[in-house]
Amino acid sequence: MVKPKKYLGQHFLKDKNIAEKIVNALSANGINDVLEIGAGTGILTEFLLKKDINLFVIEIDTESIDYLKQHFFELKERLLSEDFLKFKLSGFFKNDIALIGNFPYNISSQIVFKILENKHIVKEAVGMFQKEVAERICASPGNKTYGIISVLTQAYYEAEYLFTVSEKVFYPPPKVKSGVIRLLRKDSVNLNCDDVLFKKVVKTGFNQRRKTLRNSLKSLTHNIETENVIFNKRPEQLSVEEFVELTRIIYG
Ligand code: SAH
Repeated sequence: MVKPKKYLGQHFLKDKNIAEKIVNALSANGINDVLEIGAGTGILTEFLLKKDINLFVIEIDTESIDYLKQHFFELKERLLSEDFLKFKLSGFFKNDIALIGNFPYNISSQIVFKILENKHIVKEAVGMFQKEVAERICASPGNKTYGIISVLTQAYYEAEYLFTVSEKVFYPPPKVKSGVIRLLRKDSVNLNCDDVLFKKVVKTGFNQRRKTLRNSLKSLTHNIETENVIFNKRPEQLSVEEFVELTRIIYG
């Protein structure tokens, strides 16, 4: 047994049916290499090893690493004893990959931002987050949870909320429910606008989400006309495509 460590976000899933359902959500279309993040005691690993993929596992906890070494000896050098947040994905993998995991909740947004930074090789991601974060990532315009992480993720990925998981199926149980999502990279990751400005527009707009974009984006628009009706809107009303359009207007 591995003693759950709170500071590493360790909540071990106990229910094998749910583990199988998560693993089955991975389409693995067009990829060979799959990286499991935070394998813990390997409940997902066991099902992943049955799939026709080349599985790698990354885990920060040395006690879990020892456990995994003993139980899944076939992983051998594909078991990486490292911090996912510091791991250089594109240095290690040369082709498109998929990520999967019951992600540690304390670093969930950092995981999403790392996926976005590595969108050129991360074709797919299936993962469990705390329910509220999973919902935010997948939210549509007009929804009150629609925000920065929704727009930035959905600019490059189709994001689908798959199912909710009860806190009761973990040891120890977390305080909140969990949600499993799937991200599938879009055919093109070219936004047709300046990516850096796009990010700035989205972040600045949502910083004052009750205001119209004409008011909230003042710091970015002093050199341009803001006549366009798009500036009458509030950020939560804009689709990804409209944020792209807005970025192009501001870029001039
Ligand atoms: N997959 C297991 C464990 C989930 S708990 C299960 O479903 O039961 C989250 C796991 O992520 C823990 O094992 C924890 O040690 C690991 N972890 C936390 N931070 C990490 C990081 N930065 N890099 C890699 N693994 C991490």
